[in-house]
Amino acid sequence: MNYMKGYGMEFLMACLLLVSFLILSKQAAQVAGTMSTADNSRTVLVDVGHGGADPGMIGVGGLEEKGINLQIAVKLKAILEEKGYTVVMTREEDKGLYDEDSRNQKAQDMQRRIAIIKECRPVLCVSIHQNSYQDSEVYGPQVFYYEDSAQGKELGELIQKELNTGLEVARPRVAKGNKTYYLLKRSESVLNIVECGFLTNPKEAELLQTEEYQKKVAEAVAKGIDAYLKE
Ligand SMILES: [Zn+2]
Repeated sequence: MNYMKGYGMEFLMACLLLVSFLILSKQAAQVAGTMSTADNSRTVLVDVGHGGADPGMIGVGGLEEKGINLQIAVKLKAILEEKGYTVVMTREEDKGLYDEDSRNQKAQDMQRRIAIIKECRPVLCVSIHQNSYQDSEVYGPQVFYYEDSAQGKELGELIQKELNTGLEVARPRVAKGNKTYYLLKRSESVLNIVECGFLTNPKEAELLQTEEYQKKVAEAVAKGIDAYLKE
């Protein structure tokens, strides 16, 4: 009887040891898992504005922003990958990030973009968009950064400079601080919104639809990113 009791205790202790060992090794594996994904210093997130039911801005002749955004983003991804970056895109087809039965597709779409940034913790994000304005004379690229972010400002100024030079903009703009745009406010990584041009300006709208000009835009954005990360 006593013998059995002693044996039972030893068995219990062995079980406890085994359980502690399993818990510790699971924790170790989790730490290792976090560490292996922690090197995101070369991960860039390219957010592709709008998509699916949300066409974005409508320009000359019913031109939709969502398609131009994706065409430029795909080119940007290729250029960045060539430079050795890992690129995460928020969408790669004409689809929003919302569920079809969502009550507020726009809100869900934006929240999911923020969730992707939170999950992949990129070194920086660029959100690709096109602009529009009632005055069709207005044209040219415009970069936005979160007003209180010194890093965002630095990235924005570098991308704006490359766009102004690369696209030979006659009346160059300066990168603008903003505190109201959802992505700028919510992103946990440095983020710029890149408005590549105005779809309401006939000349720019036409250029933005050509492979050549889209490539120039993508190259300029990539150069700005490169300059920022080298500093
Ligand atoms: Zn947009």
